[in-house]
Amino acid sequence: MKLLENKKALITGAARGIGRSIALRYAAEGADIAFTDIRIDDAAQSLVQEIEAMGVKAKAYASDASNFGECEILIAEVLKDFGAIDILVNNAGITRDNLLMRMTEADWDLVIKVNLKSVFNMTKASQSTMLKQRSGAIVNMSSVVGLEGNAGQSNYSASKAGLIGFTKSIAQELGSRNIRCNAIAPGFIETAMTEKLTPEVREGWIKNIPLRRSGKPEDVANIAVFLASELSSYVTGQVISVCGGMKM
Ligand code: NAD
Repeated sequence: MKLLENKKALITGAARGIGRSIALRYAAEGADIAFTDIRIDDAAQSLVQEIEAMGVKAKAYASDASNFGECEILIAEVLKDFGAIDILVNNAGITRDNLLMRMTEADWDLVIKVNLKSVFNMTKASQSTMLKQRSGAIVNMSSVVGLEGNAGQSNYSASKAGLIGFTKSIAQELGSRNIRCNAIAPGFIETAMTEKLTPEVREGWIKNIPLRRSGKPEDVANIAVFLASELSSYVTGQVISVCGGMKM
């Protein structure tokens, strides 16, 4: 029996990067996959085909996780198409890095809205179906920067730290209904988000990582499988770092 056989998973921001990797890994473990992104482009369409080729159901939805109304509509559509939501992965996120001196109000507001409010929107919209089925696993994508802070990322760091507080609170609120809520704190993972870094910055980071390499999206996806499956049935309100042991 696969780890997520017959489960229905909903993953935000999964057209590429870590979300995409989680979608593929969940599908390999037998889950049907609903996923979102801002636009359903060629990358999203080909992910649907890749997942379907694994013998499970897949559907992509264009939906802005930072928009409350869109999330409510999305959840209704996913429930119509899939019949249940057993696993919710709040993965969508962005950066708008700058030193505080140069950070604009718009950059602050956007990062908080996309990285933090989105998690409120999606969790609130899907909680009643999880409450009714008396089970559910919620996985929120934080960051080591949310645990440690980072110069030039005060907006991102605040959003990812806020998400940890949210995760721990929801774990307490919904635990009695067998709904678990945990967070992953990835370190330096090779995706579009980190490819903007200069070679010098990249080498500097890697030199300070005890495992001496950057992470792959699959490294994060493996922990996302653990947190969604029965392997973690007694784990809630926790943050698991996937960072090669790095200290900021
Ligand atoms: P990425 O940029 O490769 O992918 C993020 C995806 O989210 C994109 O497809 C994007 O279109 C989508 N997205 C953005 N805003 C959205 C919105 N409002 N609604 C729906 N979709 C939206 O990034 P990634 O590196 O795969 O990051 C995934 C998550 O992991 C993010 O939350 C990020 O903060 C977190 N993270 C990444 C790293 C890293 O090193 N890459 C480290 C720590 C945490």
